[in-house]
Amino acid sequence: MPKAGFFYATLKRSIALVGALVIVSWGLEASFRDQFEEPGKGARLRIFDQDPSLDKENGGISTVFIPRKISAGPSDLFIQVVQTSVRPNSNGDFTDYTPKTPEFDSVHTFAVASSVYQMYIQDLWVLSTLFPKSLALKQATKIFDKRKFQILKITPHAGEDQNAYYSREEDGSRVLMFFSFTSEIDKKTKIHTCQSSEVVAHEAGHSFLDLLHPEYFVSQSPQTGGLHEAFGDLTSLFWTLSQPRQCGNVIIDTRGNLHRQNFLAVLAEQFGKEIGLKEGLRNADDDVSLLKVEQEVHEISRVFTGALYDILADAFKAAYQAKKDQQDMTHILADTGVYLRHLFLHSIVESGNFDPTFSNVAFQMLTLAKARANAPKDPLDNLGWPGFIKNQFTRRDVPVALNSRALSFLDHMKVKKAGICGTIHRKFT
Ligand SMILES: [Zn+2]
Repeated sequence: MPKAGFFYATLKRSIALVGALVIVSWGLEASFRDQFEEPGKGARLRIFDQDPSLDKENGGISTVFIPRKISAGPSDLFIQVVQTSVRPNSNGDFTDYTPKTPEFDSVHTFAVASSVYQMYIQDLWVLSTLFPKSLALKQATKIFDKRKFQILKITPHAGEDQNAYYSREEDGSRVLMFFSFTSEIDKKTKIHTCQSSEVVAHEAGHSFLDLLHPEYFVSQSPQTGGLHEAFGDLTSLFWTLSQPRQCGNVIIDTRGNLHRQNFLAVLAEQFGKEIGLKEGLRNADDDVSLLKVEQEVHEISRVFTGALYDILADAFKAAYQAKKDQQDMTHILADTGVYLRHLFLHSIVESGNFDPTFSNVAFQMLTLAKARANAPKDPLDNLGWPGFIKNQFTRRDVPVALNSRALSFLDHMKVKKAGICGTIHRKFT
């Protein structure tokens, strides 16, 4: 059976360029906070909720609102679409374009990528307030406040391939490239990877992680590579939960049982189906163990993503029991998703500049969850997160203990990255 996975670009450059990046961007100081408009202003944009294949079951096309300055392209402080540039209408909105046209695709890809950046940057500010002594969080917020990087340039229709990728070039430029291919099912329908919100969010996730930890991008450790892929898949999942209509549809589809087959867990449905897979490219509700998985970055990422999905399911169950008489199920799921996203992002920020293993990040999550439970400020602090984290990683053979390097022999194996780049790449076994 053909297998497919998201691949991220290999990078042929030296770490020394990180220093050059700072020089290149020197003087571009602009605050994220200054980009927000007064109530009553801001821009409306339209997106595919998931992808064109799910437009009946799960909502289809949504209008989203971004309360920031959005210019032609569309573009903002961090992101710009550089192909089929579109302009806002007289109301400042990007809502006049017809779905499945290149113009709509420009709006859609920008809106998803920009909302991923907004989600994570806002998280960093929330975490900085909760943990004011954290130097790592201070440094992370500085990256975005002083914009020490080049704008992310998006090409929604980069050519023919079963592929999409993020890359940082030798001159420090950062790109997201989305390709198109002909369906292998009917042999005629053109599938555009840019039309999948999950593919866009996955790639935007790679680009965001690359700003936090540029050294991970050149890591040869399979687990660090797997972490990059898991970050992409989890970005898609967290972004979906952050969209109120989609979060509501998850509850409607599953009746609150997240272990039922659902569009939140299945990643890139259209892409998977059109290359002949049963469902999407991957399913986050995955119990595979670190000892059983292939040592390829997308395969190995399933272990980490699966653990976080099950932690989400465990925590949601506990949160529902605690809050069912106070809040509707959709809001409980949305809040649980935000809490886990914060724990995960915070752990990544606090992870050192070495090649982290899954154990290292899991231990970081456990430590932060315990710290929050010991000094609770949020009703969700006491759900039992440390137990969920320990259980879900341990049962996947990821030891959760300080400096655990039980599986460090894997770090010395070369990570398999197909081709020169490509975030989605097909391979046959
Ligand atoms: Zn990827």
